[in-house]
Amino acid sequence: MYVCEVFVTNSSLNVNQLYSYYYEEYIESFKRVEVFFAKGKTTALVVNCHEIADLKAEEERLGFRLIKIIRVIDEEPIISSEQFELAKWLSRITVSPFISCLNTMLPKVLRTSRNIKTAKEIEYIRVNKTDEKLTKRQEEVLASLKDGMTAAEARKISVSIIKKFIDAGIVEVYKEEASYRDSKLTINDNFKELTPDQKEAYDTLIRTDKLVTLLFGVTGSGKTEVYLHLARHYLNLGKEVLILVPEISLTPQMIERVRERFNDVIFYHSELSDQERYEQYKRVKEGEVKIVVGTRSSVFLPFNDLGLIIIDEEHDTSYKQDNTPCYHVKNVAVKRALAFGAKVLLASATPSLDSYTRALKGDYGLLKLTQRINNMLPDIEIVDLIKSIKGRQSYIITDRLKEEISNVLENNKQVIILLNRRGYSPIIKCGSCGTTLMCSDCDTPLNYHSSINMLKCHQCGRTYRVPEKCPKCGEKALIRYGFGTEKAEEELQKLFPEARIERMDRDNVSQKGAHKNILSRFERHEIDILIGTQMISKGLDYPDVTLVGILNADAGLAHQDYNAAKLTFDLLMQASGRSGRAHSMGKVIIQAFNPDHYVLRSVLNQDYDYFYNIEMNYRSKTNYPPYAHLLEIIVSDANTEHIENSLKYLEEKLSGLPYKHYRPTELSRIKGSYRYRILLANRELNVMIDDVWKIIDDYLRQRQMARIKVDVDPLYLE
Ligand code: ADP
Ligand code: ZN
Repeated sequence: MYVCEVFVTNSSLNVNQLYSYYYEEYIESFKRVEVFFAKGKTTALVVNCHEIADLKAEEERLGFRLIKIIRVIDEEPIISSEQFELAKWLSRITVSPFISCLNTMLPKVLRTSRNIKTAKEIEYIRVNKTDEKLTKRQEEVLASLKDGMTAAEARKISVSIIKKFIDAGIVEVYKEEASYRDSKLTINDNFKELTPDQKEAYDTLIRTDKLVTLLFGVTGSGKTEVYLHLARHYLNLGKEVLILVPEISLTPQMIERVRERFNDVIFYHSELSDQERYEQYKRVKEGEVKIVVGTRSSVFLPFNDLGLIIIDEEHDTSYKQDNTPCYHVKNVAVKRALAFGAKVLLASATPSLDSYTRALKGDYGLLKLTQRINNMLPDIEIVDLIKSIKGRQSYIITDRLKEEISNVLENNKQVIILLNRRGYSPIIKCGSCGTTLMCSDCDTPLNYHSSINMLKCHQCGRTYRVPEKCPKCGEKALIRYGFGTEKAEEELQKLFPEARIERMDRDNVSQKGAHKNILSRFERHEIDILIGTQMISKGLDYPDVTLVGILNADAGLAHQDYNAAKLTFDLLMQASGRSGRAHSMGKVIIQAFNPDHYVLRSVLNQDYDYFYNIEMNYRSKTNYPPYAHLLEIIVSDANTEHIENSLKYLEEKLSGLPYKHYRPTELSRIKGSYRYRILLANRELNVMIDDVWKIIDDYLRQRQMARIKVDVDPLYLE
């Protein structure tokens, strides 16, 4: 007889506790099993298993009755002990349950959950000869098919044509357990020769004994090229390389550049299906593929011999997960690099304050690229919106911006317009009684969207019909205030009726592939003006873009958040960086209400250090990061009694801790849940985590409490 200790999956009981069960056979650690738990069946992960002589005696020793494991799910352990240790470490530093960390690390098919998903057999195709008459498009498709390709891959080329081919017997489909061959990586010799500055950065990184190095290079300085060369170096040594990118769909060019140089790259991101993710995961595990480009979660892939991890645009907030476990990819990357003896390269034109401070202190290596490849930084100009409005100009597209757009269009170049607010009008107010229309589930004003002629809550996504009269006073006096991308698009089209204008924001790119479609049409110059939210500020490298216009550029500064200035600075710098990247000088017009604010001055001078010094001075005075670590606890529940219990409990325990402690702040309601934030701050992180863990562990065992989420080192406060 054997006794196993297991972690149980149970969402209502998210404690970090091991439970004991018995079984007749030995079960290897890290296999999943099915067990009875809390009146139902659930899955669990076996952590250890030892033989016992007698069940009764063991039960007496433990002081409780043991239940038998129902069945063993896996033939092989689903994780390695490195991954197990990683999940334990992640659980500790994020103050979140072990099982949620483990599940975050794994593709869905391997997760422990109530409904177990298992991997399917994979469909492959075989291509037969044919003398049938094919259309040109069919011939193209046929030419791109290869024996042994997966059916899923083939269908991506054209679902309808593949179906026809299968019906006609031209393509045969057969099923097989996925089989993995040796790496068939080939490295092409189409690398650009590095400039002397790039070469120096490259050589330094290869020689450095620093675990982490920051590559701080202005936009267009050729950072991407440097790390493609570095990737080649490590691949040639037989090592694995991971390139992390903020969002795959927003960086099609980056993907293209990697694909051009290396064959057999894995792109690991959220648009893959569960099965596809599982297959890619296995290919990495079996050592079949040595280079991965992926978003945040690819940092958890089961590498064998990792040599280099690159974090592109390391300042990007998408590297932090905003639900439990709230981990930052940089911390995980460093942890994994340590385990493999690998190096981490952080790259950005606007590094996070934390990374740059560590680099200045010498904890990280620091490499700088201060020149653009074309040696021309764009020319930036700020338009004062107060003056424009006083001069009775439009405050959406000012006369100055309009003039520049005309110039660019005349020269047959392209324009990017950034406005970080989607929809038509963000506020609908009654002109008679002053009521603002709000979402009934969230404390959030409703946005008017002209494309659907509906009101939309940007918090929960719920849509509402547009009322004719004010729901409060009954007057027909509803007025729309402010503007979003839809209205700016409309105004642009009025000003430039001939121009081909396209909008890109979350509302019109929800479909898979929609981003790519718009961006590739922009690349082929089938679009003259691209207007969009922050999605268009990242990573785009189009030679014909010679003007970037930024509307309402300082709107983000109105947020009462400790990090608002940095986030606004990043957005403006990154967006400006899209202008004039090739042979023509770029121009940037920034429309703002506070042209004298240090964020705008720093952007105007394209001077990161100027911004850094002012911002750090402010952070030091207020004791905000990177001078102290913050730990945010969000308490939320629809039940106000539970909220009260929780706040009382947490306040009492937390106030006993020797850390700076901000009392609960009420946050806006979301989807009917009331929310409160408790904040702690301390210079030293580790003891704070340990102390908070003890409190949270006890908290999770209490009844009648609200849900909580812990966010260590939040990038912005909720
Ligand atoms: P960053 O990543 O710093 O924004 P990129 O790597 O995108 O910069 O480089 C900017 C542009 O310069 C790209 O179009 C790229 O192809 C080109 N480029 C980069 N390095 C070189 C080089 N060594 N020789 C020629 N062109 C280069
Ligand atoms: Zn809502």
